[in-house]
Amino acid sequence: MSKQTLAPIVIGSGITGASIAMMKPNVKLYDKARNPGGRVSTKTTKDNQIRFDFGATMFRDKMEIHWFGKVSEYNLFEIWNTNGISIATKPIYDLNHHYPIDGMDTLVSGMLKNHTPIQSMTLKSISQRENNDWSLSFFSNTKNQTESIYTSQLVLTLPIPQIIDLFQNSEPNPQFEKWIRFLEPYNDYRKTLVSLFSWNDWKPDLNAFGLEGNSDIPISTRLQRGDDWEYESWEHIKYPSPSNKGANLLVQFSALFSEMHFDSWMDVEKKPTPFYEEMLKNVVQEKWLAPPPDQIWNHRWKFAQAQMPLLGREGALKLDSEEFQEWISLCKETGIMILGDWLFGAKIERVIGGVHFLIHNQIL
Ligand SMILES: Cc1cc2nc3c(=O)[nH]c(=O)nc-3n(C[C@H](O)[C@H](O)[C@H](O)COP(=O)(O)OP(=O)(O)OC[C@H]3O[C@@H](n4cnc5c(N)ncnc54)[C@H](O)[C@@H]3O)c2cc1C
Repeated sequence: MSKQTLAPIVIGSGITGASIAMMKPNVKLYDKARNPGGRVSTKTTKDNQIRFDFGATMFRDKMEIHWFGKVSEYNLFEIWNTNGISIATKPIYDLNHHYPIDGMDTLVSGMLKNHTPIQSMTLKSISQRENNDWSLSFFSNTKNQTESIYTSQLVLTLPIPQIIDLFQNSEPNPQFEKWIRFLEPYNDYRKTLVSLFSWNDWKPDLNAFGLEGNSDIPISTRLQRGDDWEYESWEHIKYPSPSNKGANLLVQFSALFSEMHFDSWMDVEKKPTPFYEEMLKNVVQEKWLAPPPDQIWNHRWKFAQAQMPLLGREGALKLDSEEFQEWISLCKETGIMILGDWLFGAKIERVIGGVHFLIHNQIL
């Protein structure tokens, strides 16, 4: 089945795709996953309605852009306001960090607003037609069939390794070769292993550990860079539920730990394999004086966060660079735009602010 579309096509309904759709409602979004969100993902368990974020867990409201020698400040709440989007959030950790009260994934659904992405569609290959349009070959996981769509404007928001796979599975094309060469220095992602521990009837004494779960701006997270248990977040403080009398701890493990334990981390049901179950129970007992958890749920992100973003990892997005000019030229020359956290940096506010800037300046 083939069809032609005049709308620009964006592959990926993560935070990058949703930011584009928020500001350019005429685009069409396709994504291979069942639900939008990508690395901004929230899980709510069916039985006891426990909610937790297993990708990004919070965002900053401010970001800066350095362009033509000038630094401009952007605020996410203002960007949402301008686009008629309202997302109920609460501060966490300090005055600059926030999370949506119904889960991080509502950032994406909120920005998509009335836009319905076409999910469960995996882009398998791309070829160029005689008129230079792109022919996209998708596999529909729901219909179990291949579908082709033609477009003249293509935007890819997948992590770089998945883009390279896509190009390599496609008919050879010099445009793909140019992109592969250009993307190489930025193709560096850290892996992240994640565990969610849940207790039905036990809660930690957070104050005894220097945290403040009950203050106006709760301090319910602990970041210890370089520690195996690098980031810990008591998610029942973020998402209290009347049916949950216990506690949930979300842990993100360090890059080194995640690299070492990636392959054998979990079984098909996302339970830790017996070796890790024992290890996790012992460590959570040591660290938080916790009884054995009633459940442990594991997850792993192969391309969790881009490490060498073109516009910088922290501080203002550096748009005065030669690399950024080369990126603009390559987008024009190849007729494909590629963007995501490898361009802006792996932070939600950098992506949303960056997309806002590109659209505002007619670059995207
Ligand atoms: C564990 C973890 C913790 C993090 N913590 C934070 C945090 O606290 N704060 C913060 O600001 N940032 C955080 N980040 C980073 C942030 O989540 C990412 O930088 C951001 O979500 C990237 O969004 P994206 O849209 O560029 O990519 P993605 O979210 O990866 O979206 C790409 C989309 O493309 C789809 N896709 C892939 N291949 C195909 C294909 N062939 N066909 C169709 N669709 C395809 C995927 O399904 C996905 O939905 C964290 C990330 C992780 C993993």
